[in-house]
Formats: sequence, C-alpha cells, structure tokens
Amino acid sequence: MKTIAKLAEFVVNNMSSNRFKYGLFIYAVCAVHVSFIALFALLGVFPMVIFNIGSVTTYIICASVIKYGYEKNIIYTFYATYIEIIVHAFVATICIGWKFGFPHYLIGLVPFGYYICVTMMKGKQKYVIATILGFISYASFIACRMITGFIGCLYQLDVSDTTESLIYSYNATCNFAFLFMVTLIFVADVQITTNKLHIQNAMLDNMANIDPLTGLYNRRSMHTFLDAAAEADEPFSLVMCDIDNFKRVNDTYGHDFGDVVLRDIAHIIQQLVDTNGYVCRWGGEEILILYIGSVDDTCKVSEDIRSNVEKHSFSLHNTTIHCSLTLGIASHTNGSTIEDTITHADSRLYYGKQNGKNRVVSPYDR
Ligand code: GH3
Ligand code: MG
Ligand code: MG
Repeated sequence: MKTIAKLAEFVVNNMSSNRFKYGLFIYAVCAVHVSFIALFALLGVFPMVIFNIGSVTTYIICASVIKYGYEKNIIYTFYATYIEIIVHAFVATICIGWKFGFPHYLIGLVPFGYYICVTMMKGKQKYVIATILGFISYASFIACRMITGFIGCLYQLDVSDTTESLIYSYNATCNFAFLFMVTLIFVADVQITTNKLHIQNAMLDNMANIDPLTGLYNRRSMHTFLDAAAEADEPFSLVMCDIDNFKRVNDTYGHDFGDVVLRDIAHIIQQLVDTNGYVCRWGGEEILILYIGSVDDTCKVSEDIRSNVEKHSFSLHNTTIHCSLTLGIASHTNGSTIEDTITHADSRLYYGKQNGKNRVVSPYDR
C-alpha cells in the first residue's frame, strides 16, 4: 500500500512534465507489445511475433526521442504510436480474426489523439486534426469488423472458449488501463492549470489592491471598504495621517531613506490598527485609516500611533533619524457622505500641521 502511495505521489508530482507523461505512456504501450510477442509465439502466429518485435523496436526509439530529443519532436512519437496501433489492429484481425479484441485499442486512440493534438499543436486546426484522427480510428475499427465478416482470417486458431475469453479480457484490461492513464493525465493537467490560474489570480488581485512600497491597501481598494462601512450600521472614524517635514527627509537623506521611513510608518500603523480597520496609502506620504469603533477608541489608537512613530528610530546604512506624524480624526455620522468625513479629517490634519505638527487632532479639539 505504501509503495502504491509513493508511486502515485511520484506520478502526480511529475505530471507537469511532458517528457514524463509521454514517456510513461510509451513504456506502458511497449510493455503490452512485449507481452504480445510471447502471446503470439504461444499461439504460433509468427507474422504477429515479427510485427510486435518491430513495434517494440519502434517504441524503444520513441522512448529515446522522448528522453533525449527536442520537446517539439515528441509529436512524431505520437504519430508513430497512432500508426502502429491502427496497423497492429488490422494485421491482428487479418491474422486471427475479430474475436480476440485486438481492434478495441482503436477506441482508446480517440481521447489520446485529442489530448496529444490539443496540448502539442498550435492553432485552431489542432481540433480538426484530432477529430479527423478520431474518425480514422473509428473507420479502422469498423473496417476490421468488416474484414472478419467478409474475408475471414489467415489463422483459424484452435483454442478453447476459456483461452479466447482470457485473451479478450487481457486486451480489454490493457485498453481500460490505457484509458485510465489518458484520463488521469488529462485530469492532472486540468488541475495543474487551475492551480496556476489561482496563483496568478491571487497575484493580480494583490497587484490591483496593494501598494507595492508599503504593503498597505491602495486608494482604489480603500474606496470599496469606505463604501461598505458607510452602508453598515457600525460606527467608524477616518484618520488622515501625514509625515511631518518629509520633503526634508528626502532632500537630506535621499529618496531611499524616505522610502524606509514610509515603509516603517506603514508597518507601525498596520500593527496598531490590526483587525480593527483598514489602512491605505491614500497618496504620496499620506495614509488613511478606516477605524471601526467609537471616537474614543480611534483617539486612543491614533495617539498610540503618533507616540510609536515619534519613538521609532528609522535607519539605513548606519544613519538613524527620528520622524513624526500628524493625524486628523473625523467620526462618520449617519447622513453625511464619505467625502464629507474625509474633508473633516483632512481639515483637522491641516489644523495639526498649522499648530506645531506631531499631534493628533480629534473632533474634541475643534
Ligand atoms: P508637512 O510636514 O507639511 O507635511 O511637510 P512635508 O515636507 O512632509 O510636505 P508634504 O507632505 O507635501 O510632502 C510630500 C513629499 O512626500 C513630497 C515627496 O517627495 C514625498 N513623497 C511622496 N511619495 C513618496 C515616496 O513614495 N517615497 C519617498 N521617498 N517620498 C515620497
Ligand atoms: Mg503630504
Ligand atoms: Mg508631509
């Protein structure tokens, strides 16, 4: 059981490699033809022994192409497999008749053809080619049946009903295994593609909503939260924050240092707001907080932010400085718009800048 689980894990882990998938398939087909050599030798049908020795040789060459050749040449191994299976069905039917089930492999060629054409070829014609190949398989299947009906076969094998059933069942089993394999490869491919799409969607979502420098929400996504908060019943406030004398930081220590300050301040704010609200980079070095809770709670967290920023040492390349933040709070009231609340927060921030900076201006102050 452990070995089967390990084997299944190995197969699933390698499913994204074309060489592995086609290699697995070719080795399986090759193994079946080795068994046919023994079977036809036992039945005394020597043309089929010779034919299957040729088939095994062909598949060994195909396996080498898959392992060592260019990936674009793998398609030729598919053509070889396709032709071999059709010719084998005809030759086996002509030699020993229909009843042993050799033409049934032609049914498995239909999904296999679609899978290979659609994954390996380019352009819309790949669907047409896959469909034509599918019809050729179908026509060959019917033709094999007709041949037996009208012409008969070269070898009238004198075998018991049990032997006939066993050979038929063996061919049916191999064909089912073949169909299981194609289906597994197909389903694994869908799964791999879906997983990749999920990851890419998450990355795109992140790029569309998150500011890359600070890791905060961007203005676009903040509007979604603001609209949702305005519609909900819970009280909330907006806090507009602006770094004090930030131009001077940039001018004195360089833009990279300015970026460090912006990032550290964003981190401090995010940590203190935590899950009680949303923090966004509103523009340049302005950060807007949507704080869910009472005005008193908002004042408390704003004061914590201010004092934490004031105490924090911002450093880059052995240079350490201190910065401060001014914050303007406005509580959202029913009946007013989000724009009104932002304007109130902005005007309190402006008041703070005009009155010494490094301070929190709340609705209690003015
Ligand atoms: P005040 O105390 O009045 O706010 O003065 P201030 O110098 O901070 O003035 P202001 O708020 O207008 O500063 C805006 C500056 O922020 C200008 C710009 O160079 C800087 N800035 C905006 N975005 C970025 C950024 O992404 N990185 C860096 N390093 N600087 C930025
Ligand atoms: Mg500013
Ligand atoms: Mg500023």
